[in-house]
Amino acid sequence: MSGPRLVLATRNAHKVVELRELLADLGAGVDLDTAVVGVTEFPDVEDVVESEVTFEGNALLKARAVAAATGLPALADDSGLAVDVLGGAPGIFSARWSGRHGDDRANLELLLAQTGDVPTEHLGAQFVCAAALVLPGGDEHVERGVLRGVLDRNPRGTNGFGYDPVFAPEASNGRTLAEYDAAEKNAISHRGRAMRAIAPRLLPLLTP
Ligand code: IMP
Repeated sequence: MSGPRLVLATRNAHKVVELRELLADLGAGVDLDTAVVGVTEFPDVEDVVESEVTFEGNALLKARAVAAATGLPALADDSGLAVDVLGGAPGIFSARWSGRHGDDRANLELLLAQTGDVPTEHLGAQFVCAAALVLPGGDEHVERGVLRGVLDRNPRGTNGFGYDPVFAPEASNGRTLAEYDAAEKNAISHRGRAMRAIAPRLLPLLTP
């Protein structure tokens, strides 16, 4: 069977390439360029409002919508940064913390302002990613990946995106995530962990 076998509920082409690489490493036996596609390949599928209040809830919402609209297995992720002393905020609001969706700089600066007088030893935080797979028959699987670290009040590094310049992973010797290269980040990241955890559910969809 040729053609798509798994639709990733994202318009971010980078995430599609990253997932194909992960699945190739895990030994998927089909042509991943045609078998694993982004939702942009289906122009009629509308964007989903992320109206749930957990990462898992929002990932499931997106995967369900894409599976229903395409009739194909759908995989979605939802992620963000959870700061301990802020009770897990910005959390599911990470992309729009400053009020402007996707304004990484403003989001990061607001977070630094909010934690300005918090002592360094209380700046524990974690990146969280939920990955949800929904099959057309209704089966659902969700996995969570976490990367613990600390907020670093001195932004550094030019790689990555979002809050990477102000997040130093555990055992990073003070390097921020924006100072990691893509492969290094993927090996430890919340998204890499969630995707590797759900991969055993994906591989059966991707055998010749
Ligand atoms: P999304 O789930 O890819 O839409 O990510 C939501 C938001 O969480 C992003 O806009 C970033 O602000 C933040 N975020 C998620 N993952 C990362 C990461 O790996 N590095 C930095 N920020 C991230």
